Amino acid sequence: MRLTRYTDLALRAVMRLAVVGSEDLLTTRQIADSMNVPYTHMAKAIAQLQHLGVIEARRGRNGGLSLTAAGRCTPVGNLVRTLEGDREAVVCEGETPCPLSGACRLRRALREAQEAFYSSLNGVTVGDLVASPTGPILLALGAPPG
Ligand code: SF4
Repeated sequence: MRLTRYTDLALRAVMRLAVVGSEDLLTTRQIADSMNVPYTHMAKAIAQLQHLGVIEARRGRNGGLSLTAAGRCTPVGNLVRTLEGDREAVVCEGETPCPLSGACRLRRALREAQEAFYSSLNGVTVGDLVASPTGPILLALGAPPG
């Protein structure tokens, strides 16, 4: 199963925030630049992550973004499922619907495989993603604002 780029960059944002302390806030620009993605794409993903309660924003001169406690404990499978919109692995309907769409064993098998994919990812939390060797690399990408 291939994740959308949107989901991938949202996961990059939460990993970037997971390695800094709750007082070391980062801006959307800093996260976008350090993770090598366009600002506008990152801003859209961060808006959804805020809406989901995974990250929070502090306003003001020294404001910025941080990962919430709930965000750190979030199972990755649940987060990916939400970001992906729970879409199926294959498009069976649409402009040119497949004639098998009403009774297809392949479709059912793919759905089961997709559930297994999310279930496997639920064995890992956002916090787990930044254990070594990933965490030290993320920290080396840029210092939080001083
Ligand atoms: S063969 Fe099955 S899985 Fe593939 S498009 Fe048709 S209904 Fe969907």
